[in-house]
Amino acid sequence: MAEENKSSLDALTSLCKRRGFIYHSSEIYGGMPGFWDYGPLGCELKNNVKQAWWQFTVRGREDVVGLDATIIMHPKIWKASGHLDTFADPMTMCRDCKKLMRADQIADIYAEQKKKPQPKAAGADFFCPYCGGELTEPKPFNLMFKTVVGPIDDPSNVAYLRPETAQAIFAQFQNVTDTSRQRVPYGIAQMGKSFRNEVTPRNYTFRSREFEQMELEFFIRPDEAVELQYGRVVTLADKPDLDGPVQDDWGWEVWHKYWVEQRKKFLNAVGLPTERFVEYWQKPDELAHYARACVDIEYDFPFGRQELEGIAARSDFDLSQHQKFSGESQAVFDDPLKQACKKLTDAQKAAFVDKVRKDLAARGKDPAAAEKFCAGLFDGKYVPHVIEPSAGVDRLMLALLCEAYEEQKIAGEKGGEDVRTVLHFNPKVAPVKAAVFPLVRKDPAQEKMAREIFEKLRRKVNCMWDVSGQIGRRYRRQDEAGTPWCITVDGQSVQDGTFTVRDRDSMEQKRMSYGEFLAMMDEALEF
Ligand code: ATP
Repeated sequence: MAEENKSSLDALTSLCKRRGFIYHSSEIYGGMPGFWDYGPLGCELKNNVKQAWWQFTVRGREDVVGLDATIIMHPKIWKASGHLDTFADPMTMCRDCKKLMRADQIADIYAEQKKKPQPKAAGADFFCPYCGGELTEPKPFNLMFKTVVGPIDDPSNVAYLRPETAQAIFAQFQNVTDTSRQRVPYGIAQMGKSFRNEVTPRNYTFRSREFEQMELEFFIRPDEAVELQYGRVVTLADKPDLDGPVQDDWGWEVWHKYWVEQRKKFLNAVGLPTERFVEYWQKPDELAHYARACVDIEYDFPFGRQELEGIAARSDFDLSQHQKFSGESQAVFDDPLKQACKKLTDAQKAAFVDKVRKDLAARGKDPAAAEKFCAGLFDGKYVPHVIEPSAGVDRLMLALLCEAYEEQKIAGEKGGEDVRTVLHFNPKVAPVKAAVFPLVRKDPAQEKMAREIFEKLRRKVNCMWDVSGQIGRRYRRQDEAGTPWCITVDGQSVQDGTFTVRDRDSMEQKRMSYGEFLAMMDEALEF
């Protein structure tokens, strides 16, 4: 889609409201900042995005299984994960206009202001981007929503709405491993609601307080286990084939890159072309202390380039933390590893421990841990490492809406120029797959046949029936909803059973039989 046709966010939000994609939550009471509801078309789009992710990530693979955990979990989970102590944003308040804001977003908010305020105090470089007033010292503000479980409102009953879906996967890792017949390397995926009490929810649904995530924790062997078992660890320098089947001798670096590539394939498949997003590889000083690498996939939203999703190599941090806080072992037993280690001499084992000790020291870790870690490996035991592709449903939906939106100038029916508003969704995520109409509403034979086609098709996919207004208007209504195909039953249809299929993007019409249409649609919807 041409750049000049890209929407402003205002035009998109107005279409989304008008056509029932997105509404303010609790609108009749004035709304709630950071909370959004999805209307009839929005919830279809959302379901399709989630279904596409599930198909691509879970059902389409043999090495990933699913989980659906509760939103409220034992509060110790958040202590172990670090969220209780460190999941905070720096918050500041303007002493004059009393607005609250994130200290690290002040420059962005300032840039967005049409009328730039000047600092009220001469020379101040940290001032309110709304009124120029004096700001308070930034203080950390924990983003987790608190609640109380049970009837007694006591600190001992405090629990939290999960700020991410990932932790439940770690907490259930042993159960899933015991019951799914999966062995590392394998992944557990979960989709669902997450809650963050964002200081300044902004940019439409981009930063909400209640949102959905689609997260995969893909558990891998530590590189040391791979080396012991296969005598080598494949790195990116070996130029592994990331499009082919996954390999047991891949090290963490290859697995991480593999998942970055998988995520890009998924985004392409649902309608985001590669040239519309960029990979941002976090610099060593930006990484969390436990992370070995993290890539943000960023998209050019109308309000700037922002993170769409992230793919992090998180080492064994999460499972080790849960092991420490719960007292329950999170190690797995890997018999082939144990058998491979049995063949090593004592000297070979000692040399290996020495190597691990040096590696740990080089990575700023405690070299004294090498002995215990290696003893576990020689016995076939380790705590798995993890690669985490983590995506937001709402953020992806917003990107898909921005990408799909176009105002096209076309020749008007009565001469002159007309504007056609289209959502060019990929058919896989389009809320409505097909609309069915009789060309002439008052023609009983056309209406009967169109209705029969509609009833048959709606058993397979979401369809719409529309008989009101001129055919051109009906097409336009479907263009705005992003419906890829409009089926029109006309005089010839009644004679030979064929109908016209109008393509949303090219606006061309082709005559087809029902079977031909189904074959074309199935191909477009398949992953
Ligand atoms: P950001 O830096 O934008 O706050 P983050 O790095 O904290 O995001 P993660 O904790 O890695 O985000 O969450 C993974 C994904 O969940 C994000 O890439 C995003 O798609 C989604 N997400 C996170 N916070 C929000 C939010 N407040 N509203 C909507 N989606 C969100």
